[in-house]
Amino acid sequence: MKYCLHCDWYTSEIDGTDQDDQSRKAVNHFVDTGHSIDTVDTSSVPWNDLQQQLLMKEIKA
Ligand SMILES: [Zn+2]
Repeated sequence: MKYCLHCDWYTSEIDGTDQDDQSRKAVNHFVDTGHSIDTVDTSSVPWNDLQQQLLMKEIKA
């Protein structure tokens, strides 16, 4: 996925967009806002672990 370093903007493969679409959207966001876009390889991000940690926090709170 690609995400903005300055606001909550991001793209995700879950949204059903392919890499070309994501790149195009990222460029559009940069052109529109001047914000910097960073890219992360979603296959290396342990989303399930993150979700589990959030869940644990909610249970503890
Ligand atoms: Zn932005």
